[in-house]
Amino acid sequence: MRWESWAAAVVAVLVFPGVSAAQGWNGGRLKLEADRAVLEYEDGDLSATEAGAFLKLADRGVADVEALVLPGLPESAQPRGRVRFVVTSRVPFSRTYGRTVALPLSRVRTQSAPYLHETVHALVPSRGERVWLSEGLASYLESWVSENRGGYDAHVFTRAGDRGIHQAARRYLGSEQGRAVLPWVGASGEPPGMEEDRTGIARPFYVLSQSLAKHVVDAAGLASVVRALAGGEPDGLRQATGRSDEDWKREWLRAIGAPALADSSLAPGR
Ligand SMILES: [Zn+2]
Repeated sequence: MRWESWAAAVVAVLVFPGVSAAQGWNGGRLKLEADRAVLEYEDGDLSATEAGAFLKLADRGVADVEALVLPGLPESAQPRGRVRFVVTSRVPFSRTYGRTVALPLSRVRTQSAPYLHETVHALVPSRGERVWLSEGLASYLESWVSENRGGYDAHVFTRAGDRGIHQAARRYLGSEQGRAVLPWVGASGEPPGMEEDRTGIARPFYVLSQSLAKHVVDAAGLASVVRALAGGEPDGLRQATGRSDEDWKREWLRAIGAPALADSSLAPGR
């Protein structure tokens, strides 16, 4: 490690209490640790101030999300060790693998990284094929935590936030794009082309999934939804909430003002 790297790490530790140690290189990256989060980044990508500030933000985000999801997590999924955030210009999108979160450098620099959304993925393992529940819950908690606890919402797919998400969903349900992805919301799998078409397919799917997840959390409680996702029961939400994904979807569509859709398009191919 060059002297400048050590100096940057030491400055980060001195300037940000809670950033406890500069751990040096890990695969060519600079590494900083806090209580619940580890930050790794390439030398020169972030200044010491930027790195220290982001680590502090991520550490607090992990603490906030952990406090919320813990009551719903089964014993086997209780948090162990820190969440690792790798900030790099080498990934196009944010991704989570186990307890490692990869975030694009440009998003961290411009304070638009979905670190809270990805923290939910890192802390709540997603079993089963219900992408809507996994993405919906992560987006719901990102908005809720940033509005009620601290940190920021990356607004990757919508600026609606927690308060405006049902309205945004209602707007999408009035459009062809929204209705095209609706069969996968509250069901298994994901709409084809989601990776390639972030605007036309991923965006409406994430907005609708967040709205449905919020509806279920508000009615059945966060712990039940976390349990259903981490447990991966084949019958979806039924074991944890007493009602099936389809029941919840019908009630949600009526509640947000799209009753005509409540009895159609409930499953792919139907
Ligand atoms: Zn996600």
